Amino acid sequence: MALPLVWLGDVLRKAGLRVVEPPGWKTRTASGAQPLPVGVLEHHTATTTSYARPAPTVNLCITGRPDLDGPLCHVVVGYDGTCHLISAGRANHAGAAKASGPNPGGDGNLRYVGFEWDYQGVNQQPSPEQYTAAVKATRAVLRHLGRPADAARGHRETSVTGKIDPGHVNLDLFRAQVAIGDQEIDMATADQIFELVRKYSGGDSSYTVNLPAHPETLTESVGIPPKMGVVTGNEGQVYVSLQAGENAEVEEVYFIEDWSPDGKAGRKVGVQGRYTLVANDRQSFKVPGAATSFCIRYKSRSTLSVNVEIDPQWK
Ligand SMILES: [Zn+2]
Repeated sequence: MALPLVWLGDVLRKAGLRVVEPPGWKTRTASGAQPLPVGVLEHHTATTTSYARPAPTVNLCITGRPDLDGPLCHVVVGYDGTCHLISAGRANHAGAAKASGPNPGGDGNLRYVGFEWDYQGVNQQPSPEQYTAAVKATRAVLRHLGRPADAARGHRETSVTGKIDPGHVNLDLFRAQVAIGDQEIDMATADQIFELVRKYSGGDSSYTVNLPAHPETLTESVGIPPKMGVVTGNEGQVYVSLQAGENAEVEEVYFIEDWSPDGKAGRKVGVQGRYTLVANDRQSFKVPGAATSFCIRYKSRSTLSVNVEIDPQWK
C-alpha cells in the first residue's frame, strides 16, 4: 500500500516550488503508526548552511543519527529555497507533542508533516528564499490537508523537552503569511491588515526587530505582514526604517514579494546598493505593495534596529 504522504512532491511543485526527489523517498518510513497529519511542524537542522552549500543535511535526514533512526523529517527546505523530499511515511521529527493551537497533543510523528529548514538557528537565521519557500510549502500542505494556517506550529511550541527551533522565526507572523499570503489576500480588508500589525507590535502601529552586531557580512530579513503596502495605498504609508549606534556598512537592501498573483512571487524589489549607514541617523524605505520581507546584507559593530511602521496619518 502506498505511504500516506506520496502526494507531497506534486503538491509542492504545484505551489511553484523547486522540488528535488532523492531516490526512495516514496517508500521510506520509520517504524510505527503511519501519519494522519493535522498540521505542519517547522524545525531547523542546527547545521550552518549557505547559498554555496544550501542543503548539507539531506543525507542525515534520510539515514538518521546514532541515537535516532531516519527518516528524520518529510521535507528539507534548503537555504536556497529548494525542497528535498525525504519520506512519504512516518518520520522521527517531532517526538511527544503538547497540544498547540488547534492541534491535539500526543504522538507528534503521527500528527505532523515535518519540515526541516536547513540552517543553524542560533547564530544563523533562515535566508529570505528559504523562509518564503517554507511559507509556500506550509500553505500548500495545509490546504491539501484541509487545515487552517494556525495548524502550522514550531517545534518549540509542541516540544516537551525544551526544543528552541525554528530559531529567529516569529511564528505568529509566519502563520499570518501562510494564511493570507496568496490570492485570498485580495479578500483581506484594510482593517484585517492593520490588526496584523497591532498583533505583532502589542497594540501599536509599529514593531521593531533588532539585528545582531556582526563584523563579517551577514544577511538578515524581517517579516512584513503581506499586502500591508497595497492596502494602505502603496504610496509611502508603510515604512521600514533602519538605525545603528555606530556607522554600519550596508552592502544591499531589498524587499522580497511573496503573495504577488502575477506569477512573479519571490522576486527581489527595491534594491539599493552599497552605502554607509551613519551612526544614529534614521533611514526610511517605502514598503512595496506585495512585500513580505525586508532584507539587508551588512557589517556592523553595533546592533541594527529595524522598525516597521504604518503612517499614523493613514488610519
Ligand atoms: Zn525540531
